[in-house]
Amino acid sequence: MAKLYFYYSSMNAGKTTTLLQSNYNYLERGMKTLLFTPAFDHRFKTGTITSRIGLSAEAELFDAHTNLLKLAQERHQALYRHCILVDEAQFLSKDQVLQLTEIVDTLKIPTLAYGLRTDYQGETFPGSQYLLAWADNLIEIKTICHCGKKATHVLRLDEQGRVVSAGDQVMIGGNDRYVSVCRTHFTAKQAR
Ligand SMILES: [Zn+2]
Repeated sequence: MAKLYFYYSSMNAGKTTTLLQSNYNYLERGMKTLLFTPAFDHRFKTGTITSRIGLSAEAELFDAHTNLLKLAQERHQALYRHCILVDEAQFLSKDQVLQLTEIVDTLKIPTLAYGLRTDYQGETFPGSQYLLAWADNLIEIKTICHCGKKATHVLRLDEQGRVVSAGDQVMIGGNDRYVSVCRTHFTAKQAR
């Protein structure tokens, strides 16, 4: 039976590497996949998912207006897909998460979504909120805080390394960086 899986974590836990490894496992067995990645993430080549350790794969771009069910249906009709993988799934809208559940329930394609649980203010992203609520299986990808405890939160740092606690939820291409920390060090705003 097809299921919707949500692999969640804080930053730099290797979500994209895990996605690309799963994709590779399907391809190695002669199966076909379909990958989705957000259109506004231009860190790497458009339409390509790339991990920091050098793996990469071609992906379909989505934005706020993309109907993922319709797109998956078209691609699935053209070429049978055994699995769908979604990168940066925190950026999905509620409707798009529900479209993923339709892909699973009506097209019967297993769907694996990978994303952040919370933003740098400790709030869920729309995509993560609804994936946590609607996915069949929730799988945590673990990483650790500087103190050695499990990291569950994300701090945003400015260019001087100071913790930023206000501003937009998403800032692509900024010079800020993100550090994964445990809840204690998130509350204390200690990135190191
Ligand atoms: Zn800590």
